[in-house]
Amino acid sequence: MKAESCDILIQGGGPVGLACAAWCLQKFPDANITLLDRNSSDDADLAAADSRGIALSHGSKLLLDTINAWPTECADIHQVHVSQAGRFGRALMTREELKQDALGHIIRYRDIHLTLRKALKALQSKSSHFVWRHIDAHADIGGIEAKCIVHAEGGLFKKQDWVESGRDYQQSALVGLIEVENAAPHQAWERFTSEGPLAVLPSHYGPHILNLVWCGSPETSQARLQLSDVDFLKNLQSEFGSRIGRFLKIQDRRLYELGLNYRKEITQANEVWIGNAAQTLHPVAGQGLNLGLRDAYLLAEKLSALFSKAEAISTIDIHKMLDEYALSRKADRTTTIGLTDLMARVFTSKLVPIILARGLALSALQWLSPVKTALARQMMFGRR
Ligand SMILES: Cc1cc2nc3c(=O)[nH]c(=O)nc-3n(C[C@H](O)[C@H](O)[C@H](O)COP(=O)(O)OP(=O)(O)OC[C@H]3O[C@@H](n4cnc5c(N)ncnc54)[C@H](O)[C@@H]3O)c2cc1C
Repeated sequence: MKAESCDILIQGGGPVGLACAAWCLQKFPDANITLLDRNSSDDADLAAADSRGIALSHGSKLLLDTINAWPTECADIHQVHVSQAGRFGRALMTREELKQDALGHIIRYRDIHLTLRKALKALQSKSSHFVWRHIDAHADIGGIEAKCIVHAEGGLFKKQDWVESGRDYQQSALVGLIEVENAAPHQAWERFTSEGPLAVLPSHYGPHILNLVWCGSPETSQARLQLSDVDFLKNLQSEFGSRIGRFLKIQDRRLYELGLNYRKEITQANEVWIGNAAQTLHPVAGQGLNLGLRDAYLLAEKLSALFSKAEAISTIDIHKMLDEYALSRKADRTTTIGLTDLMARVFTSKLVPIILARGLALSALQWLSPVKTALARQMMFGRR
């Protein structure tokens, strides 16, 4: 039997794999791509899945707009208040000082996933060489020959079948939806506690329903997961304070283990790794998917430029293209991974000099406008 073949094989139908396929087809509709997707073909299965709120930057919005993949249900962030529990030092960032419509947007993971599927289906109807195969976890995919293999298998920290460079922060994130008394619309709060960051972010459900991301040691987080709603809200209130009034309700609590796992080399021969398959980050700076989407966009640019050429493409051409891609991602990856790792470590340190330094850093951030703007721009658009 003749082996199945394609030019580009994308393994992984999460947001990053879908976005990469969509940008390739948008730039070159004739591209010969096979996408292997472990998720069911039925959107209803995803609609019931992961509802955690993800912060997407304005840069990601601009990228997703190019393929009509911006979800309608989203909450804009107009200001971010950063502080540390029980210590001095705070910073406020506003959209006015950065001259942006929004500092970021909060969207449920499943809505990003579903909107990207819809965008890809629209492009598929005009692309006769695109194959979207839904497979189960045990499917044998050894028979597919591809000129270039894109790994977008993603995954969560400690759930991946590869471990390279990184760090186990000994932290988990407890996420959920909370109802509060007095939240100002479009306001995000990031509070650094002795155990990890506690973020309260807007949601599309309205100003009183907010997304919670509460990081702590695995043991404490597990205990918080088991608490009754009343005790959970009491603990949360005492950690967060009364800035947004009383915490009234909590729903949909889930736990995620947190750490850093990244590949030093993101290409090898004709293979390339993007998104969480290349780097899995702590969510403290909300950068994982933003960085993954930039990976996907820049790779799609290179792939479509190469495969749309009329002449035959050699192995050397593919290796050269992937080397150029890896070089073009170096600065953005290094900066985003480094900044996120620094924040995850510095803001959880219990060492007194570091506690003092981070208070000073937050205060300085408040007054040093160019530093604040540069940091916010890195978070919004990545390093160019
Ligand atoms: C608590 C938490 C909060 C977060 N908050 C933010 C945030 O605010 N902002 C932000 O930018 N990022 C955030 N992230 C990170 C973000 O969720 C990830 O970076 C993003 O989901 C990566 O997308 P991906 O497509 O690379 O991987 P995934 O989302 O993991 O998707 C990979 C897909 O590939 C499929 N798959 C796996 N193996 C195979 C295979 N062999 N063949 C075919 N398919 C396969 C899987 O089923 C899955 O659907 C957060 C993460 C966590 C845990």
